[in-house]
Amino acid sequence: MLCMEGRGPMQIAKLLQEEKVLNPTAYKRRAGIKTPSPETDDPYHWNTNTVVHILERREYTGCTVNFKTYTNSIWDKKQRETPLEKQAIFYNTHPAIIEQEVFDKVQEIRQQRHRRTKTGKSSLFSGMVYCADCGSKMRYCTTNYFEKRQDHFVCANYRSNTGSCSAHFIRAVVLEDLVWMHMKAVIFYVTQYEKHFRAVMEQKLRLPSEEAIRGHRKRLAQAEKRLTELDRLFIRIYEDNVAGRITDERFSMMRKTYENEQTQLKVEIQSLQQEIEVQERQIENLEQFIQRVHKYEDLQELTPYSLRELVKAIYIEAPDKSSGKRRQNIRISYDLVGFIPLNELVKEGTA
Ligand SMILES: [Zn+2]
Repeated sequence: MLCMEGRGPMQIAKLLQEEKVLNPTAYKRRAGIKTPSPETDDPYHWNTNTVVHILERREYTGCTVNFKTYTNSIWDKKQRETPLEKQAIFYNTHPAIIEQEVFDKVQEIRQQRHRRTKTGKSSLFSGMVYCADCGSKMRYCTTNYFEKRQDHFVCANYRSNTGSCSAHFIRAVVLEDLVWMHMKAVIFYVTQYEKHFRAVMEQKLRLPSEEAIRGHRKRLAQAEKRLTELDRLFIRIYEDNVAGRITDERFSMMRKTYENEQTQLKVEIQSLQQEIEVQERQIENLEQFIQRVHKYEDLQELTPYSLRELVKAIYIEAPDKSSGKRRQNIRISYDLVGFIPLNELVKEGTA
């Protein structure tokens, strides 16, 4: 939970120590559980590494992870970490200490973990602000000499003389205001006009997604058909080869071609199936988003937790000075549902 509130492992370790929470080794000793770790001088001292380890343990969500490490051979006994996608995960095998959803979100935050600035200050928005024009992350700039209101973001591709993008300069306080205003409007709209919101968003999500699913399904059927065809062709050239109608050389060449195509098709089929699954989950995601918004019905100010739960990314457009005034748009991609056409919704709602 602390991580969701935007604290880093070091801060969490410090807090646990202040709150006099026993560290794992001390806890095990008191509970009479054997542990190979030596007794620590201070039972309340928490290592940053221990916190990191706990934050990244999938087991706390109530699933069992097998084959987390492997050894290369009987000659090389070094334990290596199995890549995540090859680990065997069995979900819901025991009661969850952390909800799966929170766990996933924590992993996302930890991936976005960025170098802190030299001053040790970090922004609420760290890792989630992007340049709308070049797509790269925006850099958070702050110094101890600045007042807080001078802290700002600039496009990472911007250098005053040589960079490939313009600054897209935005002050952190301005960004905070804009995001909070938008979030407040979304929360208000969803809680007041839930039915209408659901209908509009379903339409928005469903149309492109149904089209995508149709396209994927068609391609999937083609790929599967070609795969059985290849099996048949393979048997035929094998028989031809046995009967002496084609040479061994020709046979092995054709076999190679078929096998390559087969491998490619299998990869494609797998990714198509995954894509279809993602698209089919969209309506479920919309419901989940609406539920999350309800939790924040009475939110009074922007908190790191609510921000991370509702917002996925923020895109900063270049300022427009054509009117003589500096105007700057931001676009907010919400978690689970993407962009929300707030202006359209409000217009329809009041019409
Ligand atoms: Zn840029």
